Amino acid sequence: MDSQDVQADLKHVLFTKEQIQTRVAELAAQIDADYQDRDVLLVGVLKGAVMVMADLSRALHSHVTMDWMAVSSYGSGTQSSGVVRILKDLETDLMGKHVLIVEDIIDSGLTLSWLRANLMSRGPASVEICTLLRKPDAAKVEIDVKYVGYEIPNEFVVGYGLDFAEKYRNLDFIGTLAPHIYE
Ligand code: 5GP
Ligand code: MG
Ligand code: MG
Repeated sequence: MDSQDVQADLKHVLFTKEQIQTRVAELAAQIDADYQDRDVLLVGVLKGAVMVMADLSRALHSHVTMDWMAVSSYGSGTQSSGVVRILKDLETDLMGKHVLIVEDIIDSGLTLSWLRANLMSRGPASVEICTLLRKPDAAKVEIDVKYVGYEIPNEFVVGYGLDFAEKYRNLDFIGTLAPHIYE
């Protein structure tokens, strides 16, 4: 039974399911107000953004379309290097579109600054970013993030799309791991 008890792997809960739902609805209201009658293409970054994309898109009242990208950052260990490889590209032509990148978390910001430049080069009308979480190191990179759910401390978090070794993505809350899991 112990190996099945996901809760026992966690140190503490940072944001409950209810808190996340409330915050995502607030972000959606802001996005609705900003885009008004312009159609938006939501670009989700796999796999972490699956949960936030599902909830954010359902909380929006504007017309949206959705597409997905998968990227991998080259880097040593847990540090992102800013060198990014596209594992799965968009199916949508971005020419003239209002693009909103949907992300789970920004840590160094290197992945997203590369991604934004890449999408900008495809001729969209605009590219903005929405992330549920942002860590303090993101401030070191010149990147304008229009919608941020929560600023969080420099701790490794899991749940609500975020993984550790591909696990914990299915949690409906966000928490930190107990040290015995990664030590
Ligand atoms: P960066 O902004 O450093 O280029 O990379 C961000 C990516 O690193 C995220 O999309 C996510 O995959 C991973 N990441 C950064 N911080 C965390 C964290 O606290 N927890 C998890 N699960 N992934 C993280
Ligand atoms: Mg991500
Ligand atoms: Mg990951």
